[in-house]
Amino acid sequence: MRIDILTLFPEMCSGVYSQSIIGRAINKNILEIYSHNIRDYTLNKHKNVDDTPYGGGMGMLMMAQPIYDCYCDVVKDLQAKPHVVYMSPQGKVLTQKKAVELSRLENLVILCGHYEGVDERVLEEIVDEEISVGDYVLTGGELPALVLIDCVSRMIDGVLPNEEAYSGESIYNGLLEHPQYTKPYCWNGKSVPEVLISGHHANIEKWKHEQSLKRTLEKRPDLLDSAELTKADRILLDKLKND
Ligand code: SAH
Repeated sequence: MRIDILTLFPEMCSGVYSQSIIGRAINKNILEIYSHNIRDYTLNKHKNVDDTPYGGGMGMLMMAQPIYDCYCDVVKDLQAKPHVVYMSPQGKVLTQKKAVELSRLENLVILCGHYEGVDERVLEEIVDEEISVGDYVLTGGELPALVLIDCVSRMIDGVLPNEEAYSGESIYNGLLEHPQYTKPYCWNGKSVPEVLISGHHANIEKWKHEQSLKRTLEKRPDLLDSAELTKADRILLDKLKND
């Protein structure tokens, strides 16, 4: 997969995706990520990328022309028209399902706004979809773009060791993950739950699943409405609710 980020702050992005798991995926050529500086495409001598909004109002808006020229320059290297996402508090809030869907694309272009946002006309021209990272407003689209890239990248084959690395995780299967423990066995007077050192695989799996249901009921009961639950799950949940 190839991801192109259109931004006024390319270093803010590259510093993050060159590290850790995503950085390794790039080194293994599973993933290509490029940041493009929109400012390189200004046609005015002061390299201005923003101006005051028509009709008045606070702050500055990013102008259409540098964004559009930056986009055209990126697209000319690609075989097909890429899917273009604008990071925006007006978009649909990012979900794991959306990340899985985007991870199947070959090309993704992400536009990051800044200041008060972007001239609407360029959004109409190039953007396929707006995505938000939550119902709050940030100063720019760079952090949201990095959140999206991180979430999408780990769903691409070969980025994590195997499907098991994410399929049991919180949210992915509709429930929160069970509590986890590592060495030492006893820390601060607290021991690891006995079942986890029993070596009894079936009991361990049963415990994990029950804990997962319990946690979801406690922390995010709203998720249970759309989770796939067996009859046994529902009986356990009813029991937990009545305890
Ligand atoms: N005036 C705009 C907000 C501009 S915030 C409005 O009211 O809709 C500046 C930029 O930050 C936006 O262009 C967008 O790219 C980014 N941004 C801010 N909050 C965001 C969020 N919750 N999710 C995704 N991007 C966001």
